[in-house]
Amino acid sequence: MKALTRADYELLTEAQRVIQSNYDEAEQNHTVGAAVRCKSGNVYAGVNVYSLHGACAEQVAIGTAITQGEREFEAIVAVRGKDGGEIVPPCGNCRQMLNDYMPECSVILRIDGEEKKVKARELLPFAYGVE
Ligand SMILES: [Zn+2]
Repeated sequence: MKALTRADYELLTEAQRVIQSNYDEAEQNHTVGAAVRCKSGNVYAGVNVYSLHGACAEQVAIGTAITQGEREFEAIVAVRGKDGGEIVPPCGNCRQMLNDYMPECSVILRIDGEEKKVKARELLPFAYGVE
């Protein structure tokens, strides 16, 4: 685990900004925001889209980055709530996606009250994968 850099805190702020401006628990269930920073330095954000098989905020942010031509990723964070104050760890499905697309990407978590970052691959030991 590593401590966050200034760029990581800016990424966290971006994830909070996107959910603060799109939060909608009552009708669309947009409750999580995510932001991913690419090696280019560009940051892409997204909120979850809800349906029977909806997409997590991380998936929307990563999909947006990939759509813009990004392929290398440095760090990602997801936050929940109207103010985005709660850092949420990636769900199982996202952990698989992170492991597939960006195993060396840092994932920002709050562990014992402190923001830390770990490699995506560390969140899915013994993962399914193609060698
Ligand atoms: Zn997820």
